[in-house]
Amino acid sequence: MSTLALPGYDDVIARYEPVIGLEVHVELGTRTKMFCGCRTDFGAEPNTQVCPVCLGLPGSLPVANRAAIEATIQIGLALRCDIAEWCRFARKNYFYPDMPKNFQISQYDEPLCVDGYLDVDLDGQTVRVGIERVHLEEDTGKTLHIGGATGRIHGATESLVDYNRAGIPLVEIVTNPIPGTGELAPHVARAYVTELREIVKSLGVSDVRMEQGSMRCDVNTSLNRPGEEWGTRTETKNVNSLRSVERAVQSEMLRQAAVLDAGGTITQETRHFRERASGSGEHGREDAGHTVPGRSKETATDYRYFPEPDLVPIAPDPAWVAELKAALPEPPRERRQRLQA
Ligand code: ADP
Ligand code: MG
Ligand code: ZN
Repeated sequence: MSTLALPGYDDVIARYEPVIGLEVHVELGTRTKMFCGCRTDFGAEPNTQVCPVCLGLPGSLPVANRAAIEATIQIGLALRCDIAEWCRFARKNYFYPDMPKNFQISQYDEPLCVDGYLDVDLDGQTVRVGIERVHLEEDTGKTLHIGGATGRIHGATESLVDYNRAGIPLVEIVTNPIPGTGELAPHVARAYVTELREIVKSLGVSDVRMEQGSMRCDVNTSLNRPGEEWGTRTETKNVNSLRSVERAVQSEMLRQAAVLDAGGTITQETRHFRERASGSGEHGREDAGHTVPGRSKETATDYRYFPEPDLVPIAPDPAWVAELKAALPEPPRERRQRLQA
């Protein structure tokens, strides 16, 4: 399929409507991890910030980090979400060597914050992006594949794993699908992540450094012909710069249009964004980079979610939530507007 010639962007916009959706992970800047007392310093010697809990050793038990719950509620409030009066953690079961317990403690059907929005300014217009949920989970460790040309697992001779990151609190912020932005879709995606980054930064709960991975973005994109239902989405994983967010949407729109033009169907899958080496692309055409397929997407049932039995439910006191709300800083967008005025 990668051999299909790509149509031009304007041509795609004339015949298709994009829908986008963004899932952003923010690593919180808490001093200690989500469920244990290990430090979270970035760049420490591998496997020096670990303990039986975050290594998933038998018999160890998690205890939730209050500061992480507080920071998640602050993010939810800044995004005008409703804060759950009662919710639970859930186990998300899958195997990967960077996850020592073989499950991730996350949230599933009972997220801490739901149903908010974020207004994003583009030249002369404002797009309101609906926020479906803001939930709290733990980060995984990091694998390092060596011996191959690309640093990826394919072709590698050895893999190393560092569990320092395993168990660092991670907030996931998921938008509702965003239809109706047409040719601006890539721009909206970038502007949303930019604004979200400003908001989280203003709260002081994370350093939101995309290049260090403390903010990571999964970009969902689909195309439909006017009047038809939304198309099948693909999810481009771990896009690690603002520019790549924009280019991931754009390149995926072009790729999907080529597939649909040829009478094909889009597979729901995860993909990875690859920057084109600098300089002009083949045929002298500017190339925005492209995505390559990852795994076909698991469904929720594959993860066998169930409520985490080792943790008590979270029931934030409404008075505490009200205090946090009253203490929120001025939103960056309002601050900009005020200063401009
Ligand atoms: P998953 O666990 O599969 O990643 P999530 O619910 O966490 O699912 O996130 C799905 C994301 O995809 C959300 O941001 C949602 O708004 C977006 N999305 C859903 N349907 C579409 C679609 N047809 N086109 C583009 N994005 C979509
Ligand atoms: Mg997701
Ligand atoms: Zn630990």
